Amino acid sequence: MENPEFHHGTDMRSSYWDAQAPLFAKLSEGVSSYVLGIPDIGRAFKGENRKAACIDDRLTGNLRLAGLGILLPKEEARAILKQMKPEILCWHPGCGAAAAAYDRLSPEEQATYGSPDAYAKAFAGEMAHELGLPPAERANVEPEGFHPTRVVYYDGTGDFDPSLLDETMPPGFVVSRRYMDEELSKETVDFSLGIAIGDHGFGNRIGPGSEVLFIAIGNDSADVEKLKRELTEVASRHSGKAKVDGFVAPPR
Ligand SMILES: [Zn+2]
Repeated sequence: MENPEFHHGTDMRSSYWDAQAPLFAKLSEGVSSYVLGIPDIGRAFKGENRKAACIDDRLTGNLRLAGLGILLPKEEARAILKQMKPEILCWHPGCGAAAAAYDRLSPEEQATYGSPDAYAKAFAGEMAHELGLPPAERANVEPEGFHPTRVVYYDGTGDFDPSLLDETMPPGFVVSRRYMDEELSKETVDFSLGIAIGDHGFGNRIGPGSEVLFIAIGNDSADVEKLKRELTEVASRHSGKAKVDGFVAPPR
């Protein structure tokens, strides 16, 4: 059956894919050497403020936790956010983590919030209040309902925000490994990959030769190698869908 929305989606996927292709051709020759050629890569590690947000590739921020921790037990989410020492929390509409967390609520609890977006907003508001921060901000996501990305940044530095690089690096999910244990971090990478290869991502365009790139970012080469090993474990569960690379962050 004809489905105009699907056709629209296909066109949109193609245009993002094609626009990113030259960048991926360069990255596939080695992330480290590519990064050395970016003027002032250091700016990606010097955000104006400490901003906690979801891992979503369409958001900005240097402290990134899926749905701000909405899928975790509340104490655990609070503990991770507290360690991040954020100045501001951002929630966003259409959050996959919030939708999954909302599905787990009882019908009574669901009725209290009314929608996954309202739940995401309430959760962020509660966390901001408990951490003594200003009210959580709403961040808009563009394009709606589609994640145009083939990258997961696995950030061992706790400072990285790819949006500060003026598109010299591609948009990507950001997992703040620095503030999460190995198990949760790997689980989050797996969750991100699921989105990238699913209906809301590039889907079946991802495959051998055009894998999702897991990028480890560490403060020294030993750190990068350790993070790459963790990522390799996740990638090995998804044959032909992901590959691993990494780079050392500049001194700050
Ligand atoms: Zn989200």
